[in-house]
Amino acid sequence: MEHISQQEATDLVWKEHEVAHLGAWKVFKALGRKGYKIPYSFVRMTLKGCEICAKFREEKMRDQWHSLLYSDEPGGVVYVDFTGPLLPGCGGVKYIQCIVDSATRVAHATKHKTADAMAAIKGLDQG
Ligand SMILES: [Zn+2]
Repeated sequence: MEHISQQEATDLVWKEHEVAHLGAWKVFKALGRKGYKIPYSFVRMTLKGCEICAKFREEKMRDQWHSLLYSDEPGGVVYVDFTGPLLPGCGGVKYIQCIVDSATRVAHATKHKTADAMAAIKGLDQG
């Protein structure tokens, strides 16, 4: 980090990470492609402070999701789940479907009257 201060490096790491909570290696590579020579160990240490990623890594969640599929390609693997039934809202909407991309962790929510396979497919079409 000869050319930038530690604070600037920290800001760059967070800016790159916050795009989609990318892991330390992806952030390190992305910054390298942009010409920043920030050590991987620094990126890793900085990102240990991310509360959202820490929650994702929690032992409890890993136990529940131990066989979770994963893809580095955006859209390669998505996680889909419904929540509800909720109190019926406008137009009889009772369920919320959430779709999360495994690579980017970008989420998308859609509203549904039912929580069946047809609703799931419709939600994926919208996402
Ligand atoms: Zn994060």
